[in-house]
Amino acid sequence: MESLSHRSDLPWVCMGDYNEIMHAKEKEGGGVRLEGQMRAFWEVINKCQLRDLGYIGSDYTWSRKLWSRGWVRKRLDRALVSLSWVGAFPAARLFYAATSVSDHCILVLKETSYQRKRRHGPKVWSFESMWLEDARASNEWDIDKLGQWFLLDDKDAILGIPLSSTSTSDRLVWAENKSGKFTVKSAYTLVLDEQKGSGLGHCSNGMARRKLWKAIWKLHLLQKIKLFAWKAGRDILASKENLAKRKITPDGVCEFCGDAVETIGHTLWFCDHAKEVWRNSKFALPFEISATWKFLDVLKALLRCEHLRPRLLELFIATCWGIWKNRNELRAGGKGKAGRSILRNASLLVEEYRVANEPKT
Ligand SMILES: [Zn+2]
Repeated sequence: MESLSHRSDLPWVCMGDYNEIMHAKEKEGGGVRLEGQMRAFWEVINKCQLRDLGYIGSDYTWSRKLWSRGWVRKRLDRALVSLSWVGAFPAARLFYAATSVSDHCILVLKETSYQRKRRHGPKVWSFESMWLEDARASNEWDIDKLGQWFLLDDKDAILGIPLSSTSTSDRLVWAENKSGKFTVKSAYTLVLDEQKGSGLGHCSNGMARRKLWKAIWKLHLLQKIKLFAWKAGRDILASKENLAKRKITPDGVCEFCGDAVETIGHTLWFCDHAKEVWRNSKFALPFEISATWKFLDVLKALLRCEHLRPRLLELFIATCWGIWKNRNELRAGGKGKAGRSILRNASLLVEEYRVANEPKT
């Protein structure tokens, strides 16, 4: 497979029984498979620059009964695809169909209409009725309209919501409670969690957090970049980790390097395409970002040394925004930008904003 991958740049799909799993959770029953045993598989996938297409159907594609220990089930069959292939066939999905003639299931790769592509939609979503108007008439999402209003990853998440076939009217749902009904108790728990959470262990008092957010909203940056910082800070960007939590994707594994959960921090600082950007940057951060840090932790550390390096915070956020945008373009099958051009664009954005908003003398 590896030698084949060097021969051509054409869109590529490899589908079938690989006789190996990618993660321990792709197996049920029998012994635990160790990371070291799966590494060779990851490495080939990486070298071939392929990604797992995901699936619709059962979580396992193969099963066998072990006399002593009951059933073993594994996901041994999959479709690995290149990003350019996903770009060429964005609506293609892999279905696992059970059969009685083999201990593997049948793989069916076919183009689907968008609104049926996910197994589960997110549990709760709030939306404006205008995006639904056409949808309700034809019982389909208006893809063009969603494209105008939403970023690509948000649009994908919305398309994953199954529409009701019995045109029941919409209602407001409180997402923090299983019943969907607002209760003071659940709101109180939410506030407590917010104060505790977001990795800001050392910034747990509400006052410090409010000051931090205030500083972020005051930054000399375009509104859309501040909005990005706000979403990253609240950990609500559509990273693979967050999509997996909402059951929109089957796993949270990074599609670029394949060997880590794609948290927001991983995408922005630790994944290969992000590392390339930071390697090329002329500005050095006055500290090292540790793997456990969240976005807000870094902003807080940067705010502390604002007086030493004016505009470093703006430049940092604009660069992160560029990396995130590039990640989304790559995911959609685009070619992506080189690290240098992401950096150049970020410093241009900061500079242009500064010039445009300079007080006139
Ligand atoms: Zn990665």
